[in-house]
Amino acid sequence: ILLFIVSRSIWIAGKLKPWRTNHSASLPSELFSLDLATRLRVDSNAIKMSSSDFGNMVKTIPSAVLLPTHITDIIDLVKFSYNSSSPFTIAARGHGHSLRGQAMASNGVVVDMTSLNKFSDGNGIRVLRNSSLGFYADVGGEQLWIDVLKATLEHGLAPVSWTDYLYLTVGGTLSNAGVSGQTFLHGPQISNVHELDVVTGKGEFLTCSKHLNPELFYAVLGGLGQFGIITRARIVLDKAPKRVKWVRMLYQDFSSFTKDQERLISNKGLDYVEGSLIMHQSSSNSWRSSFFSNNDQSEIASLLSKHGILYCLEVVKYYDDSSINTVDQELQLLLKQLNFNPGFVFKKDVSFIDFLNRVRAGELYLQSQGQWDVPHPWLNLFVPKSRIMDFHAGVFINIIRAQNKSTGPILVYPTSRKKWDSRMSAVTPDEDTFYCVGLLHSGGFDDWEVLDAQNKEIFEFCDESEIMIKQYLPHYNTKEDWMNHFGEKWKSFQDNKFKYDPKMILAPGQRIFR
Ligand code: FAD
Repeated sequence: ILLFIVSRSIWIAGKLKPWRTNHSASLPSELFSLDLATRLRVDSNAIKMSSSDFGNMVKTIPSAVLLPTHITDIIDLVKFSYNSSSPFTIAARGHGHSLRGQAMASNGVVVDMTSLNKFSDGNGIRVLRNSSLGFYADVGGEQLWIDVLKATLEHGLAPVSWTDYLYLTVGGTLSNAGVSGQTFLHGPQISNVHELDVVTGKGEFLTCSKHLNPELFYAVLGGLGQFGIITRARIVLDKAPKRVKWVRMLYQDFSSFTKDQERLISNKGLDYVEGSLIMHQSSSNSWRSSFFSNNDQSEIASLLSKHGILYCLEVVKYYDDSSINTVDQELQLLLKQLNFNPGFVFKKDVSFIDFLNRVRAGELYLQSQGQWDVPHPWLNLFVPKSRIMDFHAGVFINIIRAQNKSTGPILVYPTSRKKWDSRMSAVTPDEDTFYCVGLLHSGGFDDWEVLDAQNKEIFEFCDESEIMIKQYLPHYNTKEDWMNHFGEKWKSFQDNKFKYDPKMILAPGQRIFR
């Protein structure tokens, strides 16, 4: 009877306030008497969900998970930690699509940002207009880009800069950069923001823009979550096209492929330019989109067996009712200048939303096969244009093709630095044009380390050959590596950390400040 009474009391107490577990014992006990304590979870399901990410290579256990129902919950949590005699770390978790624990907090509190959306008490998505900005969208940092797209399309509008995959949060991509085939034209997503609301590491709620708290604004854009939690972003919108002409062309020669890519991004006319490598039979269609028909695939397979490696240039031109009669001709003119393998040009005509959301079908397929939640030792790099041929020879040919271990898509496309504001925290190589390279490996639970070892070889090769790459979605183990990564931006990055998060509370999973 005594046992029943005790366990019943524990159960009732657990319903009212989270029961303090071994995990949560590292947090100050007063935290559990705050109003927000009813939104703190310490149960194993919540802890488990916040201990892993898309990368599936690291596990980091937090002490608690906050499911905020309003932005004040986030403010109260950060303020409490900041004012506490033993401050604890806090990580905003968007959609958890980081690779190496960047949205985790060992013994700290993970804020599940998407909870704001579930309780519809966050900022949501609002399409607005004013005389100085024209149309824009005010969106919660927790919003997924797919939902931003759907909501803005209802007004015939859309953001201009995208990622390839849309099930990522606005706060998550703005903490990195947000790059894709539109970046050469409009800049990364961080270049297309008018204003932000941010909860700093002191628990202050600040609005910032180019004109208001500009230092904070630029620090947060690409700032790896170090200076504040983004609760609202004001995003640039433009008129949305209805449909797109989507074309892929194959090359057997890397030099012609990159020359054509560079020519296309410096001319006007296209809305999207990307590229990828095809190295074995299965990689012409990948989870990033199934584009080629069975017939196309067998033609590609025979070309591939002749050359061993192919390069696929991918371009898109948007159109709508007003350009429906001219789009084919304009596209034809642009493609006429290119040096792809004659006959190896493949075209599709799809809706704008189907194009932008092209990765989703592949994701759902991999999920159904149990292949989505596997380890992902991805490596994303920015490579200076002047060294892309050396990178090709040393990395694509001598490491990746020679070792034949890579299983996922390999992306290669140039973009222009003109569209990146150097005041933002995000870093790029020191050249006007640089390449975005994505080695999107999928590994098994037992063998992903082999791919990670290959990544290390790639770093060593670039180091020895003095190819000044920059990591995108960076991960380093030492302060010295971080200092090298930020280069001349390190000082202001560190100064801003001392100013906006002096107790090193935010985004500990990035492992920049200890
Ligand atoms: P999370 O992983 O949850 O968080 C990432 C970091 O941001 C963490 O440090 C976290 O603490 C911080 N953070 C999260 N929310 C906030 C917030 N509101 N305020 C402040 N900090 C916050 N990137 C591209 O640029 N282009 C692509 O095409 C692209 N494609 C991808 C495809 C897939 C399948 C995957 C898995 C990733 C892709 N990425 C791409 C990378 C992606 O942009 C980043 O991993 C991004 O951080 C993921 O967003 P998220 O919402 O899952 O962030």
